[in-house]
Parts: sequence; structure tokens; C-alpha cells
Amino acid sequence: MNILVTGATKGIGRAIIERFADAGFNIAFTARTQADLHDMEQSLQSEFPNAEILAIQADMSKKADVLAMAEQIKDRWDSLQVLVNNAGVFFPGEVISEADGALEQMIDTNLYSAYYTTRALLPLMLPQKKGHIFNMCSVASLQAYPNGGSYSISKFALLGFSKALREELKQHKIRVTSIAPGATLTASWAGVDLPESRFMDVKDIAEIVFDTYKLSQRTVVEDIVLRPMEGDI
Ligand code: NAP
Repeated sequence: MNILVTGATKGIGRAIIERFADAGFNIAFTARTQADLHDMEQSLQSEFPNAEILAIQADMSKKADVLAMAEQIKDRWDSLQVLVNNAGVFFPGEVISEADGALEQMIDTNLYSAYYTTRALLPLMLPQKKGHIFNMCSVASLQAYPNGGSYSISKFALLGFSKALREELKQHKIRVTSIAPGATLTASWAGVDLPESRFMDVKDIAEIVFDTYKLSQRTVVEDIVLRPMEGDI
């Protein structure tokens, strides 16, 4: 069984990788920083010596990198059971005052990365009539909020992508799930002065992804919304 998680040397993506590795999956993951990829590859390989580990450097905001990454996967694997479109960036700001280019950067990383990755790798799923695609949306996909700016625009678009894909892939028996987490303690929140208890734990996101995947082929969970116990920050 093979899984690819994009943007996964840290945070939510890394927790998902660790959960599926623990269940015996072969693992592929991407990030931009080579040193982090190398460290994570080493640590996974020593913890899971029987797993195939593919650490792929790719800037997911660049179409050429996404397509090259997909080729590397296709060179190694004939099938893909789970794809998690997780790579994403958050630049806080307001539509009326955020830096020029913020929308483009977040659409490239948060939306086009998922679109091109999915299109390139679906040929590994379609013939099996089996597979599961998760799209890492956000509560910002459901509701705009102060300082959400273009991040919210990009995450609404990613949810739209997820819904379109779900309709198209029903007939092919490939499951599509959108996940909309609220605040989850990762590097994205560095510098925010709030207690750990106000955030969700990445392990809870990983666990729900795994549990959703584990359901029988007769069922798909279409949308998941998770929030910190005390609500949004
Ligand atoms: P994180 O801890 O900041 O980690 C981001 C990961 O993605 C890193 O491995 C990073 O590695 C990689 N990455 C970033 N930009 C990339 C790019 N252009 N190409 C390839 N890899 C890239 O992030 P996170 O908080 O776990 O967030 C993961 C996803 O969950 C995102 O889509 C985010 O929008 C979503 N989300 C997060 C929260 C939250 O509260 N944390 C809530 C809702 C949704 P490099 O920097 O080396 O590339």
C-alpha cells in the first residue's frame, strides 16, 4: 500500500505520514527544504525498515516541480492507494491591504498544487477502481474571518476542487474527502502567544484521516470539520 502526502516534513502532513507508516504503508512525501527531507527520510527508514520511503524535493507552488514529482512517483509505483493534498501556506492579511502577489502565491501553493498533483497521479488510481484522495482545506474554506484575506479565498477554492472531484470520481469508486481543521499546533502558528491547550494536536488530524481511510469501500466521508475544544482562535 502506497501513500503520498505533499508538504509533509512538518506539522499535519508529517503526522499523517507517521500514522500511515505505522500501519505498514510505503511512504512518499514532499517539501522544499532538502535537509528536512533527508532527516525525515533517515528517521522513517530507521523506524520502519521494511517500508519504501520516497522523499521528494518539490516546490508545490510550481507546476513543473509538481509534474516532475509525479513522474518520480510513477517511476517507482504502479498504484497509489492514498493521496493527501496537504501542502499549503498561510500569509495573514486583508484583501484590501495584503502584499501584491499574496493571492497568486496562495492559489499556486494551496490550490494548483492539489489540482496538478491529482491530475498527474489519478492514472495510478483509476485502473484499480480504488483509492482515496484527501484535500487539506481549513475552517477558512467555510467561513471568512478577519485577517484571513487571500488564504480564505484559496481554501474556499480548494474545497470547490474537492467537491468537483468527489462528483467526478464517484463512478470510478475513488473516495474524495475534504478536511477542514481549525487551529492546529504547528510551525504555522510560531510566535502566537496562546496556550497549547487552545490548539488541536496534529495527531488528532492524522488519526481522523486514517480512520476515514479505514472505512469499507461502500462508504465515503465527504467532509470533515474539526475545531479546538474551545472553538476558533
Ligand atoms: P507547517 O507545519 O507549516 O508545515 C508545512 C509543510 O509543508 C512543511 O513540510 C513545508 O516544508 C511544506 N511546504 C510549504 N510550502 C511548500 C511548497 N511550496 N512546496 C512543498 N512543500 C511545502 O504546515 P501545517 O500547519 O501542518 O499545514 C498543513 C496544511 O494544513 C496546509 O495546507 C494548511 O493550510 C492546512 N491547515 C493548517 C491549519 C493549522 O492550524 N495548522 C489549520 C487548517 C488547515 P518546506 O518549507 O521545506 O517546503
